[in-house]
Order: sequence, then structure tokens, then C-alpha cells
Amino acid sequence: MELYSGHINKLVEELAGLPGIGSKSAQRLAFHLINMPQSRVERLAHAILDAKQNVRYCTECYTLTDQDVCPVCANANRDHATIMVVENARDMAAYEKTGKYGGVYHVLHGAISPMLGIGPGDIKLKELMKRLEGDVQEVIIATNSSLEGETTAMYISKLIKPTGIRVTRIASGVPVGGDLEYIDEVTLLRALEGRVEL
Ligand code: ZN
Repeated sequence: MELYSGHINKLVEELAGLPGIGSKSAQRLAFHLINMPQSRVERLAHAILDAKQNVRYCTECYTLTDQDVCPVCANANRDHATIMVVENARDMAAYEKTGKYGGVYHVLHGAISPMLGIGPGDIKLKELMKRLEGDVQEVIIATNSSLEGETTAMYISKLIKPTGIRVTRIASGVPVGGDLEYIDEVTLLRALEGRVEL
């Protein structure tokens, strides 16, 4: 692979390490970047560094935010005793867009997947259990309906059951294998309203 300069190879390699980008796309992107005006490349590089340096986990729900505590957790009008557990910040955004959910969230940043070697210790589960020591009345598990999402839901419900806190799972109006972020708001709300006890 010494067709291109070592510099380009290095760039291609970095880009190919990103999710959803194969080696062909990585090459295309690398050449595109090289052909872009210097100022635009600098803007892009700066935006990446800036986001990396300034975005952090909310200290309560672990979503990505610019502040210590995200706007949802900081809002006193939200019901802090109801926690919806989601796999990622995009799923949280999907439920926020409905404007109908008044509780708070907990972002796991992944799901348990024995196949991929992702165990309970690799997602923000300890952090969830810690939150449950406070005044929590219901945990709504809204992980995806994929195998990983279901495995995670089962695992969490078994953990929480002994605490006596109500545990529910969003209804299966969400298609199997469906990523929450691609589902329309009506379906999301129906899934929330039709949630079942675990
Ligand atoms: Zn938060």
C-alpha cells in the first residue's frame, strides 16, 4: 500500500477506524480533505478538537453536554423520580423531541453484548445503580429491541427488582431490531404509554 504518500496513508488509516467508514470511503474522504481549501480543513480540525475538549458527561444522567449538569437534569420542573434508561444520547434526543416525557434519563452508552465482549461493566450501569440510592420511583427501560437491547433490559430489571423500585419496559410498538433514533414520535409515545411492568 505504498501507492500514496505516508501522510495520506496515515490519514486513511485514521478515517477507516471510524464507525461505518470502510477503507474505500476512507480513501475518498482523505482525498476530499486534501483537496479542500486550507481554511476549511482548519475549521474542521478545530471543530473536532473543540468538541472533544468541551463536551463531557452530565454528572447525573451521563448524556453528553457542555455543562456539568445537562439542561434536562438541571430543570427543576422535570420529574427526577422517574428515570428512563436509554442506550445513547441520540435515543434520549429522540424522546426529548416528542416533548411529552417529563422525567429524566440515564444514558448507558452502549448495551450488553456477549458477542462483542461488552459486559455490564462496560456501560454506565454502576452509575445507574448509584442514582437509585436516591429518591426514585420508576425506572423505564427504553433500550433498543435488538438482542443486545433486550439482554440489557433483562439484566437491569434483575438488578433493580430487589430494590423495590418499579421497573417498566417500553412497549414493543417499536419494531424488533429498531433503533429508537429512527422511530417516529407517535410510535415512541405509544411505546412509552404502553410500557409494561417487568
Ligand atoms: Zn443529565
